[in-house]
Amino acid sequence: MSPNIRPIPVPDRDTQPFWDACKDRELRAQRCNACGRFRWPPRTFCPACCSWEYEWARLSGGGTVYSFSVVHHVVAPAFKDDAPYVVALIALEGTSEHVKVLSNVVDCPWEQVQVGMPVQVVFEDITPELTLPKFRPAPLQTSDETLK
Ligand code: ZN
Repeated sequence: MSPNIRPIPVPDRDTQPFWDACKDRELRAQRCNACGRFRWPPRTFCPACCSWEYEWARLSGGGTVYSFSVVHHVVAPAFKDDAPYVVALIALEGTSEHVKVLSNVVDCPWEQVQVGMPVQVVFEDITPELTLPKFRPAPLQTSDETLK
C-alpha cells in the first residue's frame, strides 16, 4: 500500500449492516432480542445472555465524547495534512453506554473538545461504497422557558 493511501474499514459478515446503514445516513447498532442490551462491536451472539437473536436498532445519532486524543504527530503519511485532529471514543445516546465508537470530532477546533461534550453524527462518503460516521458538536439545547 502506498503511504499516501488512507486505510479504510473492510466490512465483514458481522459489520456489513452497520456500514450499509451509514451509507443510508443512519446509525444502527445490534440490540439483543432476548435481553435488550446493545452490543459493540457487532458479533453473532450476545455477550450478556448468549442469545443469537438480535436486531439492527436505529440510533438517534447523538452521543457524548467519552474519551479523546489529539493527534499532532502523524505516523501515517496519508493523514499529515489533517493534523492536528481529534480521535475520540463516542458513547452513543440510547445505548446505556454499551456502544462506544472510535471516530473523529470534526467542525470544531481541537482545543474546544472536552470529555462529556454532546456531539451529533455526520456522515462522510469515503468511497462510492463506504461512508464513515464522524461527530461534530451538537447544537446547544435551548428551552422555550429561556427564550421568554
Ligand atoms: Zn442478550
